[in-house]
Amino acid sequence: MRKPIIAGNWKMNNGPKETAEFLSTFKASYKNKNSAEVVLAPPFCSLAAAKEGTAGTEIRLSAQNVYYQDNGAYTGEISCRMLKELGVQYVIIGHSERRHVLGEINELINRKTLKVIAEDLIPILCVGEKLDEREAGITEKVVNLQLEKGVQNIPADKIGQIVIAYEPVWAIGTGKNASAKDAEDVSKLIRDILAGLYNRETADKVRILYGGSVKPENITEYMKCSNVDGALVGGASLKPDGFLKLLNY
Ligand code: PEP
Repeated sequence: MRKPIIAGNWKMNNGPKETAEFLSTFKASYKNKNSAEVVLAPPFCSLAAAKEGTAGTEIRLSAQNVYYQDNGAYTGEISCRMLKELGVQYVIIGHSERRHVLGEINELINRKTLKVIAEDLIPILCVGEKLDEREAGITEKVVNLQLEKGVQNIPADKIGQIVIAYEPVWAIGTGKNASAKDAEDVSKLIRDILAGLYNRETADKVRILYGGSVKPENITEYMKCSNVDGALVGGASLKPDGFLKLLNY
């Protein structure tokens, strides 16, 4: 039985003050009716405020990125150990904005994923095709490559802890969410690829999220899909009332 996850990716939004305000409003009304794992991914600078604001709750913290070294001359980067000090348990890796806006390639994404696993954090590895790739009928090929490269060298006894987010790039921040059928089809494909790389039992443990314009009005459709175990949500997670509605899917 896979525990669903609803994760809010705040991207470059909600500084420390807004994070503290979000959490005080959120906690006043939060009831986890569906027993989903609730994860928030604030920007790095807001993680300390988020740690303080989530103390004593079941809300888990995620980072939006990480570097694969422990320390040293890597200006602007943050290590897994630094994140752990801030109470972080999850790390989003390979988000489409990091791939396509900031130029991250599969090899770097794989190094980060391996490091996150080695540090006993949980990677949320994002994969997904761009619009031209979907229109060219190569969604399967793109997702396959990103997934195979992303999980390369992850040992079989560790792969069950990974979370995969299927996020078609054309659906992110556009209001054009994928249909539940498309989300289910690609999530099933991801599970089948993992079963081929590892085995069926292990693949069945991996949680697969859908992300791309998820909002309170459409989340239920995704949560009904047998291979979709939750959602990675950007815009609709930024305000406490919207995020609370999502959790009550
Ligand atoms: C995201 O940031 O991962 C995302 C899916 O954004 P949005 O929900 O705004 O499309």
